[in-house]
Amino acid sequence: MEHASMLKSRYGMVIDLDRCNGCGNCMIACAVENNVAPAEQKANERTGVTWLRVATMVNDASFPETDQVFVPVMCQQCEHETPCVSVCPQNAVDLDPETGIVGQVPQRCLGCRYCMTACPYHARYFNWWDPSWPAGMERSMNPDVAPRMRGIVEKCNFCHGRLHQARTKAAAEGRREIDPAEYIPACVAACPAKAITFGDLEDKTSEVAKLSEHPHSFRFLARLGTGSKVSYHSSKEWVRNRAASLKSV
Ligand code: SF4
Ligand code: SF4
Repeated sequence: MEHASMLKSRYGMVIDLDRCNGCGNCMIACAVENNVAPAEQKANERTGVTWLRVATMVNDASFPETDQVFVPVMCQQCEHETPCVSVCPQNAVDLDPETGIVGQVPQRCLGCRYCMTACPYHARYFNWWDPSWPAGMERSMNPDVAPRMRGIVEKCNFCHGRLHQARTKAAAEGRREIDPAEYIPACVAACPAKAITFGDLEDKTSEVAKLSEHPHSFRFLARLGTGSKVSYHSSKEWVRNRAASLKSV
């Protein structure tokens, strides 16, 4: 079902799977930007924290038709009856009407993890341990982003610190609006293949809005009707078909 947007801006991204080469630069840039601590020794794929993971998708064909694509997965910024927002008893998750970004308020989170159960994209992470950095590495932490403590949930927020910086700069220069070039999440800036296009989906002239409407663009689990603002793009039919048939991401 199509929903009319009530949002002033709708920040979103389109990730081009034809371009992504799986290098993982986006994952590193994300962790550095958002003060995600290195994984604990005891952590595994589910208990470690990573706001962005690069998954793989294969076509299961025999050689020489074998093919594989890399799929960066982060919070998909659901817009309609946002699952994590709906279930949180603490109002610790909200959808910002100014930007459409689903944000997390760590101070309110009680760690019940309802939101993790509700998220169809497995994009949320629980802090099983207090974050810690190897000696000296804490000097490279981002002063604009508060680290989260043990016992709460966190996830991608399209680099809120960078949005805040862009707004501060605009205000200092007497502008009400930020220039789109002033707000670019770390993963977008770090990708050497320029696989991630970011911007305001509400601006129909923007590159991201046009790309999201391209016939080769799609959303994961679109049938759930979450209205996610992260889309993917692939010229390969098997990729689009596989994405449409997936039961989970
Ligand atoms: S992808 Fe998960 S964490 Fe992100 S908005 Fe949707 S339900 Fe919430
Ligand atoms: S774990 Fe935190 S954010 Fe998630 S539902 Fe519970 S209180 Fe809300």
